[in-house]
Amino acid sequence: MKHPNKKPKIQCQRCGEELKPGKEVWLELSNTDGNYYTEIPDGHVSQGGFSFGTACAKAQLKETEIAKQKA
Ligand SMILES: [Zn+2]
Repeated sequence: MKHPNKKPKIQCQRCGEELKPGKEVWLELSNTDGNYYTEIPDGHVSQGGFSFGTACAKAQLKETEIAKQKA
């Protein structure tokens, strides 16, 4: 029996694109407001880190800003 020795693929959480290891951006998802952050704000419960492509991470953080302005 073969044992695959492959590292788990890193995918962009936003668009599903496969990311090169080391090129991904990790954002933390807040369980408190459902937004992604570079660093989870004080008092927020973290749902963990998720990987994004550089462009998607920027877009995602922009959406966090917009969501916070609406809140
Ligand atoms: Zn992406």
